[in-house]
Amino acid sequence: MDLVDVHCHLTHEKFKKDLDLVVERARKAGVKAIVCSGVNHPTNVEVLELAKKYDLIKASLGLYPIDLLGLGPDEVGLARQTEKIDLSEELKFIKKHKQDIVAVGECGLDYHWDKEHHTQQKKNFEQIISFVEKLKKPLVVHSRRAELDAFEMLESSSIKKSLVVLHCFEGRKHLLKKAADAGYNFTIPCNVVRLQHFQTLIGIASLNQIFTETDAPWLSAFPGKRNEPAFVAESIKKIAELKKISPDKVARAIWKNYGQVFK
Ligand SMILES: [Zn+2]
Repeated sequence: MDLVDVHCHLTHEKFKKDLDLVVERARKAGVKAIVCSGVNHPTNVEVLELAKKYDLIKASLGLYPIDLLGLGPDEVGLARQTEKIDLSEELKFIKKHKQDIVAVGECGLDYHWDKEHHTQQKKNFEQIISFVEKLKKPLVVHSRRAELDAFEMLESSSIKKSLVVLHCFEGRKHLLKKAADAGYNFTIPCNVVRLQHFQTLIGIASLNQIFTETDAPWLSAFPGKRNEPAFVAESIKKIAELKKISPDKVARAIWKNYGQVFK
């Protein structure tokens, strides 16, 4: 089986000690590509370095909405941003590395960590959307507690829907349907094995708009355990069960989707 993890954070401190082993386990599990996402300038630089070091790792450069505001949440683990990012400067940096990346992201809106600066967040996201439109790369969208706003912003843009990957999209059922009908792509994280929401999403989205991701070290299939790219195999099993087809067939479809979107 050829597997893929289209979104994770291997720059996280939890991987500092054993990244070689993590990558090796992924390889043994059949993972052929691991898309590692940056969230700010320091992590974008780290992601580019990882992609150079490991053939399995591909780079996605992103700007997490909270980091853009200079409001790094208290969460530890990733190199944090404590000052406002100069968005135009960072977009220039991403453009400069166009050849070294397979996607832009994660970018988007986050109303969970920030309750006050939604107008500014939308302004930033709008600038990113129009940048990505011109860059012609896939956009991995983060939309925590802001699913409807993110969806509406994408809808009113001219971004190609088949190049948009809604990462861990937690919108309500009717919004999932609307986004699926419109032709957007979705990721299924490993915690699908126990979360009804993503199981519902699997029922709604067609196989050609689904990707596996880990968001490692988070969203593990196994509570309390660090997540890692090898575990996308767990999501494949769950998708196969819900779609009532073989895991092989699911893996093949997702690998094909990967080849069509991430380049
Ligand atoms: Zn993430």
